[in-house]
Amino acid sequence: MEIKTKGVVLHRTFVGEKDAIIKILTESSGVISASAKSVKSMKSKLSAGCSLFSYSDFLLTESKGRYIVTSASLLEGFYGLSANIERLSYATYAAELASAISPDADDAKAIIPLLLNTFYLFSNTQKNLRLIKCVFELRLLCLLGYAPELEGCVECGDTEEICFFSPAEGGIVCRSCGNIPDTQIITPDTLSAMRYVHNADNKKAFSFSLPKSNIDEFEACTEKMLDNLIGYRLSSLNYLKQIAGRI
Ligand SMILES: [Zn+2]
Repeated sequence: MEIKTKGVVLHRTFVGEKDAIIKILTESSGVISASAKSVKSMKSKLSAGCSLFSYSDFLLTESKGRYIVTSASLLEGFYGLSANIERLSYATYAAELASAISPDADDAKAIIPLLLNTFYLFSNTQKNLRLIKCVFELRLLCLLGYAPELEGCVECGDTEEICFFSPAEGGIVCRSCGNIPDTQIITPDTLSAMRYVHNADNKKAFSFSLPKSNIDEFEACTEKMLDNLIGYRLSSLNYLKQIAGRI
């Protein structure tokens, strides 16, 4: 059976001298793994379309649950990412996150434009990369149907004196309900930024800046929500924190 689909290469492992297994976030079937034969050869027509983070038009052949890449035409590449270890590490994390949540086809279609925007910014922007990561995480949660409650306290519904965020409850908590376990402190500017990202579209969601202390709060909320959703901490996130000297 042949499948024609657009998709983003999330991961690539070389096998033997020339071949690779690539993990693709496809519009047609969510995340799938496929063999890319002779992709390391100089003459290979697959190499550009199957390179890491590429957005490509794929033709895949499926047999007994195994996929082989028949053709891969590059639509968009993000070569700036491989030139800088920090940018590369952020993009690797975004790709691993997209893979770990293993979206179905409908969710994959919604996530791909967000992922491409995020790769573009990680490869080009002068903005704070950690803020880009926070926006990606929150938009991803929203697209998957796990948008946090940001309008009223998750315990009592109150909209005044919001001081905390509960990743486990998935939303903001007011001062008088603040004794529930594992809450993060959240200040008004951080809450405003999270509301902005929640309500904006994929592109506009990234167009603001935020001081470091607010990024710290934002990140603590979204990272913990995703940890809870996935059930474990991604190795690429641990690595990101190591290289940022924050572990
Ligand atoms: Zn409350």
